[in-house]
Parts: sequence; structure tokens; C-alpha cells
Amino acid sequence: MTTFATHLECARCAMFYELDTIQQTCARDGGPLLVRYDLRRVHDALAPEALRARAPSLWRYRELLPVGRDEHVVSLGESMTPLLAAARLGRALAMPRLQVKDEGLLPTATFKARGAAVGVSRAKELGVTTLALPTAGNAGAAWAAYGARAGIRVVVVMPETTPQVIQRETAAYGADVWLVPGSIADAGAVVRKACAEHGWYDASTLKEPYRVEGKKTMGFEVAEQLGWTLPDVIVYPTGGGVGLIGMWKAFAELREVGWLAAGATTRFVAAQAAGCAPIVRAFEEGADESVPWPDPVTFAAGIRVPKALGDFLVLRALRESGGAAVAVSDDDIAAHMRLAGEREGMLVCPEGAAALAAAARLRREGWIRDGERVVVFNTGSGLKYAESLQGGAPRPLAPGSLPS
Ligand SMILES: *Cc1c(COP(=O)(O)O)cnc(C)c1O
Ligand SMILES: [Zn+2]
Repeated sequence: MTTFATHLECARCAMFYELDTIQQTCARDGGPLLVRYDLRRVHDALAPEALRARAPSLWRYRELLPVGRDEHVVSLGESMTPLLAAARLGRALAMPRLQVKDEGLLPTATFKARGAAVGVSRAKELGVTTLALPTAGNAGAAWAAYGARAGIRVVVVMPETTPQVIQRETAAYGADVWLVPGSIADAGAVVRKACAEHGWYDASTLKEPYRVEGKKTMGFEVAEQLGWTLPDVIVYPTGGGVGLIGMWKAFAELREVGWLAAGATTRFVAAQAAGCAPIVRAFEEGADESVPWPDPVTFAAGIRVPKALGDFLVLRALRESGGAAVAVSDDDIAAHMRLAGEREGMLVCPEGAAALAAAARLRREGWIRDGERVVVFNTGSGLKYAESLQGGAPRPLAPGSLPS
């Protein structure tokens, strides 16, 4: 099996870059580089039915992933994640056809494993020995895990407010973990300088071209799980926006390869926290790019991103798909974490709960219409946010008495 990737292309100026050397961002304008494929060849070489015989992991889409050789694949078992019907939760939110794509079952318990699996595999293929990245938390953990698996040194810089479990998890994979005041933007400034100083590979969001390729497999999976159709609406908790950009790219590729049912489209919704909603603000103002959010505050750490390098691509995806951008309060996020746990046995992360809350609001406002098929992304397991778990407090049972 082989990749049908042909080259890299700047998302801003379309400049061409080669695949077989280390590339970061566009030398001309700093734009993110995106992998391009010979989609005609994929169309001729592969029918979607052929996938059925393959293992249920993201590597089943190998032709549309950038890793050249099998021996460079770094895997911890990235199995396809369930697309769960959520009838009880859907009834509570007046969306009977609600489905939850549960990414909490991946290695390191978030969808960041997808980006790290493909990103680290490519780093290994290109001979990288040390990589560094800033993170709001989960990307650091995922890249640390896959880095350990590949024998690559990983340096992670994260805000000191990152949830404890994630800090310790990242260190447990042997990464060098550094804490800084502020947000992921402050961590990013440190990484940029350290990479320039030491010559390390900069694995920041969209500063290497391959993380987004891993994340795009969320789109492939949803389409395949729905029989190569698309849901009416996809609601995605948006921080750096890579997952949303990835799925948008995935659907464009599938359309060109000819696997998607005729006319299949989806409206993308970016869910953000009210305390850090730069994309929502830019969307509402009709702007092409976002303005850095001055004082980002939310307990949904993964979407506490004051300015995304790929914001212009997220905004393009939202507008071209007829989508929306919604900010929800931390109280609303907490309420939906609890609702998902109590109604469906789903321990969603705060970011996933933000997406649920955004969907609920769009439904109340009538933007999501009666009977529409809605897929909400739960991007990780609630266990990574043990400090934030909701529910009635456990009560001590006096000796000799019984639960009532
Ligand atoms: C990183 C993260 C997000 C945001 O992902 P992007 O694709 O960068 O927007 C959402 N949820 C969780 C749990 C995350 O870790
Ligand atoms: Zn460019």
C-alpha cells in the first residue's frame, strides 16, 4: 500500500513545496502548507468497497494519507471511533437524529491522537530527532506518546493552568514539559524561539503540514460510517480549528475522488467558549481573519486558543458550507457535560460538551431544523478533566444503614 500524495501547497498563495524534505510554513507568506494528492489516480486505483476488507483504523485511508512507507507508520492502535446514536440525549435537546462521534476511545483519550499518529510518522520518515510544540494540553500528551513510540525527543510547552491530569500524562510519556503563564499563544512564542535557537522541528498547529492530515480522517470516518453520505450539520469544538479544516479538506477530497453520494453536503458549526471566541466574533463581523482574544478564560482547555494560524481556513469552511459559529458559557458547558453523562452514559470532555451546548442552542433558535441529521464531536474523554466532572456528590453511608 502506498500514498498518492504528490506535493505540498501553501493555503495562502498556492506555492509548491516538495514532500521529501522537512517543510514548516510557506517561505513567502508564512501560510500553512497543505498536502495535495493525485485524486484522479485514487479514483482509478481504489473503490470505496475495497476499504471494507481493511482493518478498522485510520490507516485504512492510506492512499489519502502522506506517509510513504509502511515501516514509518507509528501506531498505538488508532481504531475507528463509534458514531453513536444518542436518542435519549437527542430527545432532551429536540434533535431525535442526534449522533455523537466519540473520540474519547483513541490512544491518549482524545482525537489529538489522529494528528499525532500521522504527524509523528511523517516526522520519523523525514529523520526528525527532536520536536517541540506548544499545547493547550491534549496535543502535547498525544505527541509525547507517539514521540516515545517513535524514539523522537518531544519538548512540550503548556499553560500552567492546563488540567493536572494532562500535565502529568504528558510527563509520563517521557516528554520534557515546561509550564508558562498565559495561554497557548504564550507557549507558542517560546516554542518558536526555541526551535529557531536549537534547530528543532516545530510541530505547532499548522506549522507542519501533517497533523491536519491525521485529523481529516474524522471526516473520512463520518462519511464512511454514514454510507458515503454526510450529516446535515457537523458541530465541532473549535480551538486551532485543525479538525474542522481537516474534515472540510476530507470532504473536498472525497467529492473529487467520487466516493461521496451526489449532492452530499454538510453545514459546519464551530463551537467556542464565550470566554475565548475569536472565530465566533470574526464570523459575526464578516471578517476573513480573527483578532487575538485578549484574555482567554474557559475550563474547556482544548478550545482556549486566542488566535488560530488557520482561522482564515476555518472561516472559509464555515461560510462556504453555509455554517455557523456559536459561543457558549462555561455554565452551559458544565450543564451539557452532566446531561451527556446522565442521559447517555457518555463522559464527554468540556470541549465536546461545548459542541453539544452549541447544537442545543442552534436547535432552540431554529437554525437546526426539525429532523435534521446532526453529528456532534466529543473530542475526548471526560476522564482527562477529572477536576471538572459533574454529578451528585457521593455520600458517606453510616455503618448499619442502607442506601435509600
Ligand atoms: C485540541 C482540542 C480541541 C480543538 O481542536 P482543534 O481541531 O485544534 O480546533 C477540541 N477538543 C479537545 C478535547 C482538544 O484537545
Ligand atoms: Zn504562501
